[in-house]
Amino acid sequence: MKPVNIQANANELYLDCNATTPVLPEIIKAVSHTMETVFGNPSSSHITGLRARYILDTTRQLARKVIGLQSGRLIFTSGATEGIQTAVVSAIYAAMQVEPTERKSCLLYGATEHKAVPQALAHWNQLLGLNAELVAIPVDKDGLLDTQFISEHVKDAAMICTMAVNNETGVVQDLKELEHVIRQHNADVPWMVDCVQVLGKKSLNLDETTIDYAPFSGHKLYGPKGIGFMAVRDSAPYTPLIIGGGQESGQRSGTENLPGIAALNALFELLLDENSTRFQSEATLQSYRSQLVDSLTCAFPSIVFNHDLKRSVPTTLNFSVGGVASRDIMDVFDACQIRVSSGSACSSKVTKSFVLDAMGLEEWRSGSAIRLSFGPATQQSEINEACVRIKQASDALRDSCLIVADTNNDNDFQLDGVVQLKYDDHCCYLVIDRKAKEIAVIDPHPALAGRIENIVNCQGYRVKAVVSTVAESAMSESVELLAPILIPLRSNDEYDVFGWSREIEQCDVVPVKCEGSVSGCISIGERCLFRIGSRNPFYILSESAAFKSRVHSDFLFTGTEVSKQAYECFVSEETLICPGRDPEHHIAYTSCELRGDCGVDDEVNIPIGDTDEFWHREDLLIIDVRERQEHVLSDIPCCAEVINVPLTEVIQFIQTNRHLRGRDIICLCRSGNRSQVVANVLKRHGFNSRHLLGGLALLQSPAA
Ligand code: PLP
Repeated sequence: MKPVNIQANANELYLDCNATTPVLPEIIKAVSHTMETVFGNPSSSHITGLRARYILDTTRQLARKVIGLQSGRLIFTSGATEGIQTAVVSAIYAAMQVEPTERKSCLLYGATEHKAVPQALAHWNQLLGLNAELVAIPVDKDGLLDTQFISEHVKDAAMICTMAVNNETGVVQDLKELEHVIRQHNADVPWMVDCVQVLGKKSLNLDETTIDYAPFSGHKLYGPKGIGFMAVRDSAPYTPLIIGGGQESGQRSGTENLPGIAALNALFELLLDENSTRFQSEATLQSYRSQLVDSLTCAFPSIVFNHDLKRSVPTTLNFSVGGVASRDIMDVFDACQIRVSSGSACSSKVTKSFVLDAMGLEEWRSGSAIRLSFGPATQQSEINEACVRIKQASDALRDSCLIVADTNNDNDFQLDGVVQLKYDDHCCYLVIDRKAKEIAVIDPHPALAGRIENIVNCQGYRVKAVVSTVAESAMSESVELLAPILIPLRSNDEYDVFGWSREIEQCDVVPVKCEGSVSGCISIGERCLFRIGSRNPFYILSESAAFKSRVHSDFLFTGTEVSKQAYECFVSEETLICPGRDPEHHIAYTSCELRGDCGVDDEVNIPIGDTDEFWHREDLLIIDVRERQEHVLSDIPCCAEVINVPLTEVIQFIQTNRHLRGRDIICLCRSGNRSQVVANVLKRHGFNSRHLLGGLALLQSPAA
């Protein structure tokens, strides 16, 4: 396989600086100079070694100046996670030197700490055998630690861990007040303050505090990954985590990462240089934030900010937009080349933000949260450009009915037939007839209710049914809530527990086979939705009146599982079996999958290094599986035919496009996750499909 030659993307607006930052040119210069010229081992006594040691020693002095630490240890590490481990091991080991009966009984940590903290506490507590109780300190709605709680618990603590600035919200803790409470109730407890997100954003003077351990990280402030440092107060217990050659005066063995340390050196020089214009003043950063807040509020009128901006560093904004999942915003921002991050980390799993949960925010806010973070070196021109693109992103979301506005136009909005919406493992289906402007909703998950409402209102659809397959489930509860909103004149008496109308509409087609099991039918434009069975109902959809003679359904919405009766009566080789839950991304099953007698699947992956055919074969069919709102800026530059089939519309695509089974298909998306899912489902349904590993993120035209 050819190596991937990833090119710089000049168009990219990187606003995810709390995750990591780009490396500044002057820092890159310092790193490469060290690698080329000062490559010696600082422990060697010859001149090459002495030159390396000079960089090590001067960087340590500069670090001390930056964080205000004259006495105490200053140790270079691989990053903050290592600093955290070292602090935790040191404190727990010290706690274990006390007689078992006298030992402190708990380890305290803030409920919104970076996961490295509670995980390290749990791990070392168990491994070293302290077996203290891990206790999370609650935070209030602003994310501030509960000092009353600390005052009650800290006397029993073997260690207390707090943070200076939160990485998800930018909320700044009042360290002076914390210190006062902690020391008033326990003068000696080892206190770690995670200082990763405060460096470069607020001034520090550790000598004036009683903080025992302060871990820092280079890559959060324009340095490379794999370098960090930690401050340790003289009186704090200390146990090295890494033992070996005795580097760092035996406090952290292993040959020093000199290029990384040179990067810190260049960074500290910039921070200390009063004449340098590299880093913006706090006032400028605040004006950037105001500008972004204005443009976000204008673009997304239903936006809420998830933290008190006055209590946060100016470089972090965390917000949610009502009715729009963070994934949808993330995807469209990414398509507009704005990089931000969301609570939802991967393709369809919904991971809520534990930080926002701890602050007691409503569930939807935590599931829809977006973090936009810039850094002290961000320039005014980048903020201006971000505001332009935020507007583009919101226009794209409007055009796709993900947010509703007076200006919604439906030119782009082509939804027709079966649409699959997912929340976690749950599948909800919309059955739409675009011409007739009619829709039915099957199994709406509560988290999707806002989105469905948007689609209905934005398109002016007439809602014919809102139904579930399982009684007493989250879906049936959601039917109860959503149906009266979407069907205004609906009276509850007319509907059963699944939301199905007792006033059964008479369709003029009824299946000849198993006729008795059909308990009703609703027409959605040309399509017919049948309800089968009454206890554990399922629904079948027929595309047309041909249903009667064909005696099978085009789509079967199964809820939990397909009964034998359903299979025998309504499933044919061409039926698409649409599951109620889909943890493994099957999207839709085939009848042979139900029987368990399908053949073995071929490989669908195309390694990104092998994309020659992608650029040169005109006979290919490229399926772009991104959602419509993601098509704002990026076109796919290749010579083959490109069609757009969003993941949500794949089931309908399979049903309508069986004639494309003979074509060579390559699926493509942003990262390669969704395209793999689509290539797999198409393959299982008889198409000749593959997908590009790594997706558009890595694809470059041969000319690039
Ligand atoms: N603490 C906080 C607050 C962070 O934001 C991070 C980085 O995500 C870490 C600790 C871990 O830092 P590192 O990547 O240097 O190990």
